[in-house]
Amino acid sequence: MQSSVFTKIVPVPKQARLLEGAGFRLERRAAVTAPAAQFGPVMTAAKRIHALFPEAGEKAVTLSIEKAPFAARCAEEGYCLTVTENAIDIVGYGERGLLYGVITLEQLAKDADTIPALTVTDWPDNPIRGFKEESRFGSDQMEREDWLALVEDIALRKLNTFAISLYGCWGVQYDGRCSEYLFLPLKNHPELSTPKLVKYYSPTEGRWIESEDLPPIFRDNFLEDIFRACRDWGIEVVPLWNSFGHNTLIPRMIPEIAPVDEMGIGQKFGFCTAKQDTYDFLFSAFDQIIDDYMIPYGMTSFNIGLDEVSGGINKDPDDVFRRVDPWCKCPACRDREKGEIFIDFAVKLISHLKKKGMKQVFLACDMLDSKRAGGKQLGDVTEKLLKAVQDADIADTLVISWWAYHNIPEKMQVRNLYPERGLRNIVAPWNGYQMWCVALQPLGNIHLIGATNHRDGGEGMVSYSIWDRSQDRVHDALADYSWGYEDAGTPNDVTKRYALRHFPTATKEAYRAYRLMDYAVEQRNSTKWSFPDAEHVSMLDLLFYRFNPYIYAYPKADAPYPRVFLDEALEWALTMREDLERALYNGSAVAREARSIFLSLAEKPGCDRFQALRQAYECMNYLTLMEDWLAIFEMYDLCNAGDNLTVAAIARKRAVERIALMQSCEDTKEKFVVKAMTMRQHSIFLQLYLDIADWCEKNPAEPLDLLNMRHVLSDRSWWLR
Ligand SMILES: [Zn+2]
Repeated sequence: MQSSVFTKIVPVPKQARLLEGAGFRLERRAAVTAPAAQFGPVMTAAKRIHALFPEAGEKAVTLSIEKAPFAARCAEEGYCLTVTENAIDIVGYGERGLLYGVITLEQLAKDADTIPALTVTDWPDNPIRGFKEESRFGSDQMEREDWLALVEDIALRKLNTFAISLYGCWGVQYDGRCSEYLFLPLKNHPELSTPKLVKYYSPTEGRWIESEDLPPIFRDNFLEDIFRACRDWGIEVVPLWNSFGHNTLIPRMIPEIAPVDEMGIGQKFGFCTAKQDTYDFLFSAFDQIIDDYMIPYGMTSFNIGLDEVSGGINKDPDDVFRRVDPWCKCPACRDREKGEIFIDFAVKLISHLKKKGMKQVFLACDMLDSKRAGGKQLGDVTEKLLKAVQDADIADTLVISWWAYHNIPEKMQVRNLYPERGLRNIVAPWNGYQMWCVALQPLGNIHLIGATNHRDGGEGMVSYSIWDRSQDRVHDALADYSWGYEDAGTPNDVTKRYALRHFPTATKEAYRAYRLMDYAVEQRNSTKWSFPDAEHVSMLDLLFYRFNPYIYAYPKADAPYPRVFLDEALEWALTMREDLERALYNGSAVAREARSIFLSLAEKPGCDRFQALRQAYECMNYLTLMEDWLAIFEMYDLCNAGDNLTVAAIARKRAVERIALMQSCEDTKEKFVVKAMTMRQHSIFLQLYLDIADWCEKNPAEPLDLLNMRHVLSDRSWWLR
């Protein structure tokens, strides 16, 4: 693997070359000249350059802003950095460009005594390069310093957009409650709040933890601090408010604006879009965000969501099996086409936001795509959309966000941004998102959708994500493919550069370990998206969609609720047991080797110990899950043979392994990750094994049916479901 000083720069720079002559010896002294500013990226650039050279000295370090000497879509985010023996010169072609020049210098200076004489001229391809933090497990536990660390983490990758979900809801998953998240107290509706239950076993504390608290961002209401930090990093904040789908809290708490069925009964999901009260509610929430945070901090972007507006069960916590329909049947709504209702509603919201000064309003693509689940209900609405956008004069404001999270080309739902329609577009890959289950490695997804953005002239990408530092390499891929798609190369090139940066003394080993991780959770093509076929098992689909208790937390039609883990999962697994055992033996060997490499890298001088230990945990998580399922197959056979005492011994051993994994989680991950769903998932497995062992020891002669665990599970297990 070729190391070069330029590998240290994230994302990959456009033009970089070494110059003749000696390099700049890094001492803490220099005569620094930098433009002054009270806030914003220029202030941050100056602050950081002074931190790099805190003492006066002879060598000159000069920061300045000039007009770019070249034409490019994002020239003003560009910079030119020149390093010679006695001088460092950073010319920003705009305010952000200046800061990016300083960040590049910091990257070159890291772990170096001397920066070689060189010059870098750099600018991004895409004006929108961002990270979206979903309101979900993880963000609901993040304290102020965690949010500010997130913002810094993306800023140092030269991402310029931070989308933050302030309101979003999913169905009932745990504790018989809808998963609802409100991250901002509403002045007009102080009754709306979403306390979060935390339940898990802590090996560190040696006890079960149970608490219920408001999300810290709501409890302490520090949204303004996030806006301020983003402004100073040159980051555009995009508040996201789910305004139709992903919306149960508001229609449940304010039934006057909920859609109704034929009998006039409120639906607890969606809105009646014919009522002025609905707009009054939404606009008062939008305006609070805009007036209190966006105008004072100069932000002009908003996301109204509008994805997945489809009914079904599991939207009503009082009756999880009741079929709920978001399409209102009141006299004003019932005779209108769904497509018309949707487009009218979207256009009204966007028009209001434009009037309030928003320059871009993001809207999810799926309801506009008649091939996708949501859009199927509406049919082809392209003509309607284009006409409505024209009539309302919002073509300059609406930005379609094309989201798709597959790693394989054949499965991608987004392959075209239809540039001929003349609308603005961005793409949304994901960062793995469900970090509380298994760390996925979606570099392929980012690469693929980045290619579509590049080909079709999109404005960039904003990932769908939950922040976790374990996704460090994935986040570098996001930065690389949104800054300069062609320069970024393949996902393996991203991995090579990452290995060179973080493990310079053991690059080959690190590269091997990351590739092994990619294979441990690889997504393969299969006949159905979430259903591996016998030809090759898709490890991602197996580990996430089949073998994880999380997926069985949702109610399912015609099945008792709460659903029981193992029953359904094991029943399915037995239908293709041989293929799955092959996949598990292969996969566990891969995860075991990757883990052992990371553990050795953690001890090597010059290597990134923090990341090595973290990745070792993620590999241990893969490994434990795979060994669990091999053990479950073994226990199933022993149960059928009536050998309950051996089953108990195996279950106790799995419990010990699970506790070791949980200890590693508490040792390596931040408190907000631990407190969120991650440790609760682990605890569900832990208690399952304890229950099996207890039952088998108590009933050594009674047949145990692992396909029917309902009578085996303890109260503790049900408490966790
Ligand atoms: Zn209605």
